[in-house]
Amino acid sequence: MQTKYVVVLGSLLSGIGKGIITSSIAKLLSMYNYRAMPLKFDGYLNYDCGTMNPFRHGEVFVLDDGSEVDMDFGTYERFLNSDLNTSFSMTGGKVFSEIISRERKGDYLGNDVQIIPHVTDYIIEKIETISDKEKLDVMIIEVGGTVGDIENNYFVEAMRQLALKRKVIFVDLTYVPELEKVGEQKTKPTQMALRSMRQEGIEPDFIVCRSDKALNDKARRKIALFSNLAPERVMDDHDLGNIYWLPLHLMKQGFDKMLIKELGLEMNSLDEGKLDAWRSIVDMKSRSKKPLTISVVGKYVDLHDSYASVKEALSHAALAYDAELTINWVESETLDESSIGNGLEVLKGSDGILVPGGFGGRGIEGMIKAIEYARVNKIPYLGLCLGMQLMAIEYARNVCGIRDANSAEFADCENKIIDIMEEQKKITTKGATMRLGAWEAMLKPNTIAHSSYGAEAISERHRHRYEFNNQYREKLEGGGLIVSGTTPDGNLVEFIEWSGSFGIGTQAHPEFKSRPERPAPLFKSFIKSALNKSAGISGGKYSYTLSASA
Ligand code: GLN
Repeated sequence: MQTKYVVVLGSLLSGIGKGIITSSIAKLLSMYNYRAMPLKFDGYLNYDCGTMNPFRHGEVFVLDDGSEVDMDFGTYERFLNSDLNTSFSMTGGKVFSEIISRERKGDYLGNDVQIIPHVTDYIIEKIETISDKEKLDVMIIEVGGTVGDIENNYFVEAMRQLALKRKVIFVDLTYVPELEKVGEQKTKPTQMALRSMRQEGIEPDFIVCRSDKALNDKARRKIALFSNLAPERVMDDHDLGNIYWLPLHLMKQGFDKMLIKELGLEMNSLDEGKLDAWRSIVDMKSRSKKPLTISVVGKYVDLHDSYASVKEALSHAALAYDAELTINWVESETLDESSIGNGLEVLKGSDGILVPGGFGGRGIEGMIKAIEYARVNKIPYLGLCLGMQLMAIEYARNVCGIRDANSAEFADCENKIIDIMEEQKKITTKGATMRLGAWEAMLKPNTIAHSSYGAEAISERHRHRYEFNNQYREKLEGGGLIVSGTTPDGNLVEFIEWSGSFGIGTQAHPEFKSRPERPAPLFKSFIKSALNKSAGISGGKYSYTLSASA
């Protein structure tokens, strides 16, 4: 059977949860055992997300195959609990670079190359090829931005044309504001947005309404009237407090059955096992009771989206232990040298401290202070990529006495504990040139790493240019640092640990593979030991005077 398509569009404003709707639709279909996968189109002309600023765009997500993709892919993988590959990510940059390379090869000889038909035909061809190759029953296509944007209008046009030859269901995500003073849900913005969709030749089959409070009947009927839809096709998607509820919330409104019917799929029966598995995860939230505070010390903390997967991975692990998680976001620059002494007050009361990944020198000294604080006070610590590199630097400086220890990324010092990788030295271009994607590591028995994973050979995703410098391995190990995991050839250090308390750093990003149905092992053991600390089972007093070095 040919793949059928659901196209998810935003008509009013972006950033209101199109990725969550797309994931929820895929999840619902998978609960009926249809093979359903998402594809995302982003209109920007970057080839991929790797060259974007996480502070503006949110986290750069990494797939097993090493592609650097939009953070929505994190949501897709978490909902579906499956690994996606680069072909599911389409960007304006990829589309145009392919069109131009075809033109140079002479594929369009004699023609002037145009948006219609060349670009639109290419998009349709590509989508059909991927969905055929993946043998999908349904592909859910999320269109980044909103209808009417100049960046995505050729893609929206391609979707209109796709609907002329294949079964396509359009789902529009809109926003219904409620003016506090008037106390009424306003549908006029949606009415206007529907007009602009019609201008592009698209009539939605379902409208999903984001709102603060549940969509009331009056607003639902009004939107239905203006969109030629039955009121039950106008779905409520108000703030549920937990994104993982959404598939079940849509199901409660009958969306699953209506969609399957509308797609013309044979009606499979609902897989109760899959539904129960999901329900039990969603319900966990209500069971959470043990309070737990984790401080995340980074430099993009003002935009939590920059650390979306870290936040998710923490909450998956917290849910697994029934913990009520509070994340204390700490801007690392506020902990810089000038604040030694009282500046670290903000870390008091942390049950665990985490330093996530990052690039560039800003705020680094503050992160190192936070790591020292965790080590001397025996507060469980988890370091991710940069967080591992800084853990090594802190140890070199404050335990092994290498006072100028640093990373070649930040300083031209003598003791480069972290250095540029050999193969990186010759690279001059920035796009997709880091050490990326899934890499295997071997773990040493009787270490935190080994007991966390319960395995010797593991694989995690990477995204970095710098590495632990092997010239310092002996010295740091001699000083008590444990190298608990390396690449299979033993060459690159992948995991390090403290010996006196729970502290582990990894060169990888285990947060990318954490899912509610399968929390990341390292986050689980971190949360477990943070809970132990909070219960007084381990952990010290906040009495140690920090070294004055920075
Ligand atoms: N900036 C560091 C590197 O390139 C760490 C990267 C990261 O944390 N993802 O190696």
